[in-house]
Amino acid sequence: KVLVGNLIGEDHVNYVLMYNMLTGIRIAVSRCQAKIKRPLTDEDFTARHKYSFDIVGNELTPSAKYDFKFKDYAPNVFRELREDYFQLDPADYLLSLTAKYILSELGSPGKSGSFFYFSRDYRFIIKTIRHSEHKFLLSILSEYYSHVKNNPHTLLSRFYGLHRVKLPRGRKIHFVIMNNLFPPHKDIHETFDLKGSTVGRLYSEEKASQNPRAVLKDLNWINRGKMLELGPEKRALLTEQLRRDSELLKKVHVMDYSLLVGIHNVRRGNRDNVRSNTLKVFSPAVPPIRRKITQIKGGRSPEAIAMRQAMRTSDPKRLGAGTLNLPEVDTGDRQHFIFYQDEGGLQATDESNEATDTIYYLGVIDILTPYASVKKLEHFWKGLKADRHKISPVPPVEYADRFFNFMKAIMRGGGGGGRFKAE
Ligand code: ATP
Ligand code: CA
Ligand code: CA
Repeated sequence: KVLVGNLIGEDHVNYVLMYNMLTGIRIAVSRCQAKIKRPLTDEDFTARHKYSFDIVGNELTPSAKYDFKFKDYAPNVFRELREDYFQLDPADYLLSLTAKYILSELGSPGKSGSFFYFSRDYRFIIKTIRHSEHKFLLSILSEYYSHVKNNPHTLLSRFYGLHRVKLPRGRKIHFVIMNNLFPPHKDIHETFDLKGSTVGRLYSEEKASQNPRAVLKDLNWINRGKMLELGPEKRALLTEQLRRDSELLKKVHVMDYSLLVGIHNVRRGNRDNVRSNTLKVFSPAVPPIRRKITQIKGGRSPEAIAMRQAMRTSDPKRLGAGTLNLPEVDTGDRQHFIFYQDEGGLQATDESNEATDTIYYLGVIDILTPYASVKKLEHFWKGLKADRHKISPVPPVEYADRFFNFMKAIMRGGGGGGRFKAE
């Protein structure tokens, strides 16, 4: 997948969808956040809040440009995750996602058919997911929640919200909001998506030489002789966290996830400016909905007040021109997390734990594929042709062990040591 933004204008096929997503998020999240926090109950994990938008509007939903329905899943659980464990500032979250939005798509070149959208400040990603992935996330939500609670430094994708948009003809689009592992203020010079599998895990080096943003795979990593250069301290921490995270993935029977590794070379810095080329502003011109503010105006409830605020802050006119200025420094919320505290990432160290010239941006992504779904079939067919332990779809326990062993094998203190050998 290539990280190139396409401008989403009103004529873009996904303009309406994007508009509806953003409008839904804005209203649902601000309503949820306006409520007084209370301890979670079991019901919070199965809760769903429904909103119906149309051009007229009502007390709950201001008028919108289009007719659509919006569903917010387990809003209180995600709120607690965001605020108490992922250390997001509530106002920031809403503003990032609803301010004059974003740049588009990481396209949909993957076989999954998902679309990716970045928030304007590049901190958040909206990923459309399949219905099966959506059901799966809900089914493991309490385990995911407990894991995050017990593992504040988890490397797993940070899910901030789970939502659904339903268009008038009944088309349903499910999506999650999650962390962008890559920082807005640093160029990523090399990207790898590692699964610990070697079969079919090669991106054409010829194509890669023409595209600095190519996402390379396991065999490219091995052939290039790469290692995660981490001294004993960081190596031990990362190994332990990966072990715990892969135990969870084993337990919930997922597979097909990967360790995404972005590499920034400090000496090279930002001079290639790979970032800004990739970013174009998408301005859905979410309307300030002045007219309907009067309807909500009467409301003295915290919800009505929060909604008025949300509308004000997301008025594009208040946010100036459509230029996209990415911050030049780290935004701060990542400081709390061991693996994201050096410029939003993890700085490489040598055998004496001294910092070297590389910063890694790491995380375990694409963690919503239950083994029970399509994979059993694929496993069977592929298993006939290749060594069944090396191919990508193996059962979850085997997948997790292979994943974890691979990651352990590719770590060493910077400046020396061996190489990972292909089997
Ligand atoms: P497939 O199932 O075919 O692998 P997918 O549509 O499920 O594809 P992912 O594997 O989740 O997509 O992600 C595809 C690519 O998008 C990754 O290799 C990475 O380059 C980028 N990406 C995904 N999640 C993130 C993230 N949280 N931060 C930064 N980049 C990401
Ligand atoms: Ca993937
Ligand atoms: Ca996937």
